Amino acid sequence: MGIVALMLFPLSGSLYGQEAGGTKDSVAQIGTIKLCYVSPIDFPISLAGNFGEPRPNHFHCGIDVRTQGVIGKKIFSVADGYVSRLTVGMNGFGNAVYVTHPDGITSVYAHLDRFMPKMAERVLRKQYEMESEVVDLRLSPEDFPVKAGEQIAFSGNTGASMGPHLHLEFQRTSDGGLVNPLPYFQHLIRDTMRPKVHQLRLYAKPGEGVLLGTGGAVSFVPGANQKVYEAWGRIGVAYWADDYMNGTANKFGIYSVRLFVDGREVFRSCMDSYMPADNRKVNSWGDYGVFMKQKRWFLKSFAEPGNDLSLLHYGPERGWVDICEARDYQFRYEFRDQYGNWTTCEFRVRGVPSDEQLAKETQRLREQRMSKNYMRWNESGVVQFPGMELRIPAGALFRDVELHPQIKIEEDGCSNVYTLHDEPEPLLVNATLMLAPRKPVDDPERWYIESSKGYIGGNWQDGWLVASVRYLDESYALARDTIQPMITPLATGKWSSNKLLRVRVQDKDSGVRTFKAYLDGQFVLFTGGAVKTCDLRKTPVSRENKRRLLELIATDRCGNERRDSCYFVY
Ligand SMILES: [Zn+2]
Repeated sequence: MGIVALMLFPLSGSLYGQEAGGTKDSVAQIGTIKLCYVSPIDFPISLAGNFGEPRPNHFHCGIDVRTQGVIGKKIFSVADGYVSRLTVGMNGFGNAVYVTHPDGITSVYAHLDRFMPKMAERVLRKQYEMESEVVDLRLSPEDFPVKAGEQIAFSGNTGASMGPHLHLEFQRTSDGGLVNPLPYFQHLIRDTMRPKVHQLRLYAKPGEGVLLGTGGAVSFVPGANQKVYEAWGRIGVAYWADDYMNGTANKFGIYSVRLFVDGREVFRSCMDSYMPADNRKVNSWGDYGVFMKQKRWFLKSFAEPGNDLSLLHYGPERGWVDICEARDYQFRYEFRDQYGNWTTCEFRVRGVPSDEQLAKETQRLREQRMSKNYMRWNESGVVQFPGMELRIPAGALFRDVELHPQIKIEEDGCSNVYTLHDEPEPLLVNATLMLAPRKPVDDPERWYIESSKGYIGGNWQDGWLVASVRYLDESYALARDTIQPMITPLATGKWSSNKLLRVRVQDKDSGVRTFKAYLDGQFVLFTGGAVKTCDLRKTPVSRENKRRLLELIATDRCGNERRDSCYFVY
C-alpha cells in the first residue's frame, strides 16, 4: 500500500464531499487527518497552483507542482496501484498517465513530456491502430502495476500548459469526483503564510435591498479607516483574497472561508471535493462580470438561485443578510488554508431605514420582469429577432436576468450579426442558437455559425443552422468556408538526413479538422499543433534509401479537403 501512515481519526466526511455534521469543527478536523502519499518528484515540492482555485469556467481541479522550470524530470506514482489509462491530446492534458490506487483514488499526471518506454510503445501502437495522434488507452491491472515511488513518466509542458510543470489531479475512482490532493502531501509541504484579503464587495439583492441609496454593488479595501456603508434590506458580501506559501511568489485559492454576522455563521465554503459537472458553477460563485473586466475573482458569500455547488454551505437565506434594524451589523470573515494558517477580517454595515428607496428598487425589478427578454433562471426562455432564435434551457442561467440582445443588419453578409446580451452573464449549460441564411443555400455543409471569437459550428434543421453556445455577450453570424486547408512541407532538404518530416497545416476560416499522412501507402503518424512532425524512426517504415511517396491529406471543419504529395529519399 502506498499509504505510509494511516488516518489517526475517523475520516471527516468533508474530505469525501459529504456535508460535515457540525459547522464548527469541520475546518479544524482537516488538520488532524493524516493521509500520506509519496512525492511525485525527487526534489522538494513547491506549488504553482492549488486545488479549487477559481478560473473562468472551472476550478483548478488539481495541484500544479513545479518542475524547476524544465522538462524531463522523473515523475513517480504517489502510491501503489496500476496504470489504468494513458491519454494523448485529451482535456488539455497533453500526455497524461492515470494510476488507480486501491484506496479509491485515481491519481492523474498531466502535461508530461513522455511516458516510460513500455507505455510509450503501447500508446504508439494504439495511435497507429486508430490512425490518430489523440488516443485514450484503457489498461487492465495486469498491464502496468506500479509501486509507490516507481517512475511512470517524464515531466513536460504538453497540452494546455503555460510552462513546464506537473498537473497532479486526484479523481475518485468510483464516480470521477475531484478530490483535493493537498491533505495527502501535508508532510511534504511547508506553509506558514496566512491568506490575505485584498478587497471586499457588498451587493444589494435586486429588488430586495438598498446600498448607498440604490441597488448595485460596491468594492472596498477593509481596514481600520474603512468607511461604514449604509444599507437597508437584503445585502450580500463577496471577497477577493489569496493564499500564499513559503518560497514561492504564486498566489493560491483559499481552502476554507466562513462569514459571520453578529457572531452567527451565514456562509461557509470548504474546498474538499466536487464533481466535474460543477465546474461551470465557479462563474456564479465568483463575480463573473467583474472577473471579465478586472481579472480578479470576488467569491460571493451568498448563492445565486441556480448555484447548488456542493462546496458551499448556508442556511435558508442562501447567505443573504437582512439589514432590518437601525444599527450597525458586525461582519466577520475567517479565511483558512490547509495548514492551519488563518486570518480574519471585520467590518460593519450600518442599517439605515430607507423604505422609500427599497420600494423604488422593488418597483424597478417589477418593471424589468415585464420585459419580453426577462429570463427566469428556472424556466426556459426564448429570444427572437428576424433570422435568429435563442433558446435558453431552464436552469441554464444562475439568476434571473433581463437580456439586451442586439441585431446588426449586414446586407452583404451570410446573415445579420446578433449579440445576445451586452454584459457577460454565465450559463451553467449551453444555450441553443438558431440562425437563418439571407439567401437560399446550395452548399449547406460549407456553412457554420461564427462568433466574435471564432468557429462555433452547427447543424441544419428546417432551414436554420443550429449550434450550442456558451457565451451570451459575444456576437454571432453565419459564415461560409469554401477554401481547403493549406499544407506546407518545411525544410524538405533535411528530411532524409534528420529522419524527421515537418509540415505546416493551416485553415483560415473554420480550422483544421483532420490531418493524415501516408508513406508509400502506409499510414505514418504526425504529431503537434500547426507545425506537425513525423519521426521516421518511430514509423513502421524502415530506411532503404529509396524514393518514397508521401501523401498528405487535410480536411477543415466544413469538409473542404486538401491532398498534396511529394517525393523524398529514405
Ligand atoms: Zn494544473
